[in-house]
Amino acid sequence: MRSLVVGNWKMHGLGAEAAALARGVREGAAGMAAALVVCPPFTQIAAVAAILAGSVVGVGGQDCHPEPAGAHTGDISAPMLSDAGARFVILGHSERRAGHGESDALVRAKAVAAAKAGLRPIVCVGEDEEERAAGRAEGRVAEQLAGSLPPDFSGIVAYEPVWAIGSGRTPGAEDIAAMHALIRARLVGSFGAAGSAMPILYGGSVKPDNAAAILGLKEVGGGLIGGASLVAADFLAIAAAAPALSSPGMLH
Ligand code: PEP
Repeated sequence: MRSLVVGNWKMHGLGAEAAALARGVREGAAGMAAALVVCPPFTQIAAVAAILAGSVVGVGGQDCHPEPAGAHTGDISAPMLSDAGARFVILGHSERRAGHGESDALVRAKAVAAAKAGLRPIVCVGEDEEERAAGRAEGRVAEQLAGSLPPDFSGIVAYEPVWAIGSGRTPGAEDIAAMHALIRARLVGSFGAAGSAMPILYGGSVKPDNAAAILGLKEVGGGLIGGASLVAADFLAIAAAAPALSSPGMLH
């Protein structure tokens, strides 16, 4: 049973940088207790997948279109991601929900498309600052889970409070544990035994110095890492801090 630590490179990485980062992750990943995945920008997926081939590090995309092909200028489909070497895809990241107006229903359609293409969806949920201040964090997350996960979902959920992403701020340990417990209860309620084994990642300003405290919390099955995943040593230090799991939330 392993924690899963996923790097979201966002819109960072020209060829040389992405290759160097992938090589750095590959070199440090051997023998790690955690499972590692990196999600480069679309243009670097094939090159990064080639560098990571035969290693313990998987590759994912950062989004996909719900249709497998068609007249959708500028979009990338799930079969295209798979063809390029991806095995995972991040869906419903708050930057896509906010910047591209993605609804729960669209995220759900993308999760269906990803599964059809053989990709494991990593579906992001999380409240914004105003919702937390108003005591609506749990309700918002429950609503996103209900709307974003298809009935036959078999993937990974990432709890990412919007206000913690890229801000250097994180919720307290009790708040993270409480939200992960709520997500676990919802997953079990919706998917039964399968829901008790789905990994639930925490994301939002995870750094090498807070990784052990956050990734060691009950029901935290690993991390979704943004900024710190752009420095191989930091990403690897976070992954090294992730515990071997003995409770639900494992990847393998
Ligand atoms: C993210 O964007 O998914 C994320 C968690 O970013 P950061 O680690 O930079 O807060």
